[in-house]
Formats: sequence, C-alpha cells, structure tokens
Amino acid sequence: MRFIHSTLPQRVVFAPGGSPQAVADETALLGARRIMLIASDREAALADPVAERLPVVLRHEEVVMHVPVDVARRAREAAGKAGADAIVTVGGGSTTGLGKAVALTTGLPVVAVPTTYAGSEATDVWGLTEDGVKTTGVDAKVLPRSVVYDASLLTSLPSELAVASGLNALAHCVDSMWGPRADPIDRALAQEGIRALAAGLPAVTADSGATRGIEQTLYGAYLAAVSFASAGSGLHHKICHVLGGMFDLPHAQTHAVVLPHVLAFNAPAAPEAERRIAAAFDAADAGEGLAALRAAVDAPRALRDYGMPEDGIARAVAPVLAAVPANNPATVTEENLTALLRAAWEGDR
Ligand code: NAD
Repeated sequence: MRFIHSTLPQRVVFAPGGSPQAVADETALLGARRIMLIASDREAALADPVAERLPVVLRHEEVVMHVPVDVARRAREAAGKAGADAIVTVGGGSTTGLGKAVALTTGLPVVAVPTTYAGSEATDVWGLTEDGVKTTGVDAKVLPRSVVYDASLLTSLPSELAVASGLNALAHCVDSMWGPRADPIDRALAQEGIRALAAGLPAVTADSGATRGIEQTLYGAYLAAVSFASAGSGLHHKICHVLGGMFDLPHAQTHAVVLPHVLAFNAPAAPEAERRIAAAFDAADAGEGLAALRAAVDAPRALRDYGMPEDGIARAVAPVLAAVPANNPATVTEENLTALLRAAWEGDR
C-alpha cells in the first residue's frame, strides 16, 4: 500500500441544542472580538440565539445560491467597513459559501454552523459565480477553523430539502470511492458516512423533529465532505457540475437524481467500492442498498422534473466527456454516457 493522505486542520464540535455556547467558545478560542454573522433572512431565527452570546458588529443577510461575485464583493466591503475580526455563518451551503468568499480575500477565520447536509463547512473548496459561470478553487484560508453541528437547528428543514441534501452527502461518499485522489482512508471514511446517512435519513424523513436521526445524518454528511475533499470529484460530480451549470438545475436534487445511475454504471468495474458500499447499506449489492434507501425517503427521480430539456442530453455529452477523470473505473463513451444521461432524465432505474 503506497499513498499520501492529507488531513485538513479543523475543530469539529457536536453540540445538540448547544450551538450558542459552543460557538461562543470556539470564537473565544480564536480571540475574536468583532464578529460578522452571516445568515440569510430565512435562517435568521436559527441565528438569533447564536448571535446573543457573541460580540456581533455586523449581521449580513444577503445570501444567494452559488455566491454571485457582486454578492461576495458587497459582503467583503461590509466586513472591512465594520472592522470584523472573525466570521460566523449559520445556514446551508450557500451561507457557508459566502463566508468562505469573504475569508478568501480577507483571511478572516470562519466558524461554521451548518443547517443542511451540504458539507461545504468541512472542505477547503470555494465557489463563485459570474454571468452564470461557476468557478471553484481550493484555498486553505476558506476552510472553517471550527464547525459546530447542532441537530436542533435542522428540525425546521423541510423534508424534501432534507432528502435532497442528505442524498447530496451520500453522493460525496460514493464519488469518494473512485475520485481522482481516492485513497484507503477516504474509502473508510466514506463507507462509515454511507452507513450513518442510511441510518439517519429515513428517521429524519419519518419525523423532521427526530434529533437523533438528524445527528446521525450530520455525522454522515461531515464524513462525506471530509472524504470528498480528499478524493476529489469523480464522474458523478463532473456530470452534476455540467448539468447544473448548463440548465440551472437545483444543486442537491440534481445529485439525488444522478447518483443511482452513476453507481450502476461504475460499480461493475469497481468491485472494492461495490463491496464497501453494499456493506455500508447492509445490502446484498450496492445498487440494491441505494434503491432501498431512495424508496424509503421518496427520493427525487428524474431530471426532467427539474426543468432539464430533453435535447439537453445530447448537448451535455461532450462537456461531460471532456471532464471525465482518467481513473474512472468504467470506460466512458459517447454511447454509454448518452444512455446514462437519458436514464437520469427519464427517471428510469
Ligand atoms: P442552500 O444553502 O441554498 O439552502 C437551501 C434552502 O434551505 C435555502 O432557502 C435556505 O434558506 C434553506 N434552509 C437552510 N437551512 C434551513 C433549515 N435548517 N431550516 C429551514 N430552511 C433552511 O442549499 P445547500 O444545499 O445547503 O447548499 C448548496 C450550495 O452549497 C451550492 O451552492 C453548492 O455548490 C454549495 N456547496 C459547496 C461545497 C464546497 O465544498 N464548497 C460543498 C457542498 C455544497
């Protein structure tokens, strides 16, 4: 066995019902005295109790999915004007993403309090959008110094969003099995992530107030993000990135729909990944395990339901082919990729 694995430096706090105190402790460790708190107006009620125990000099509410550059510019200017010395984000991946965009140019430390299962809080990847084109990059400055997971903040997450977001996390785990830098540590973390997500998500969808289920799902989402940050984007993420950008599809739902098709495509050529995924689901095979989870949570089924046009299948083939990682287990051709995209568009199993 010969490989190099780097572990990202970050404190992770699980504090069910205890985020206000935990965030106060984490920011005190940073010596922060002037905090910029980022939370959208939809997340304001979740952020209020956290804000009460912090020296907040600025509350910033302008949060937009995929971080448009002008939104990032306004947030950076506001941080400078207020003399902020640290950032606290309370919200989903879009909110965390804006905090990262401010950290990228200011170097301010971030404490992230996630309220979805997106996982951005555990990666050093930033993303910005300009004229509909998304640019991503990797920078140590954007990795939150601490993450505080508080399951009680996710009881308000609508079931449909919880399912899509949780399956997005599952996609991080599955792609971590064969991403371009996937190593045995990533695969072990991803396997445990799948186990936790498969245990937690059905409990969350059955009862959105089930904090034990939310906690399991958050734990899985964290492992998913850690393994994915190390392994890098595999075929699944390349496909979703192209489709999301070309057809303005919703992020988490696109992942939820495409995942079973990529798993069915790659699994026969990736026996170790197949075995690990099956074991994590406690199923006879990986595809069956995923199908059972998807049925239990009534997962999103078809890209056409989210506005992708049928002629988009043919248009997406070339850009996806150009992005396929060289180490993808199965050989990707124009023909089999077209079949995969059509199945995801139609919602075939
Ligand atoms: P989001 O942050 O846009 O949130 C979706 C919606 O849910 C929003 O309207 C939000 O206000 C609402 N919401 C969030 N938490 C809630 C709660 N607890 N209760 C009720 N409503 C709540 O969506 P997301 O899926 O969390 O994040 C998607 C974004 O994150 C994308 O831009 C994606 O590219 C990015 N992302 C980045 C990384 C990375 O490593 N950089 C990883 C994953 C996702």
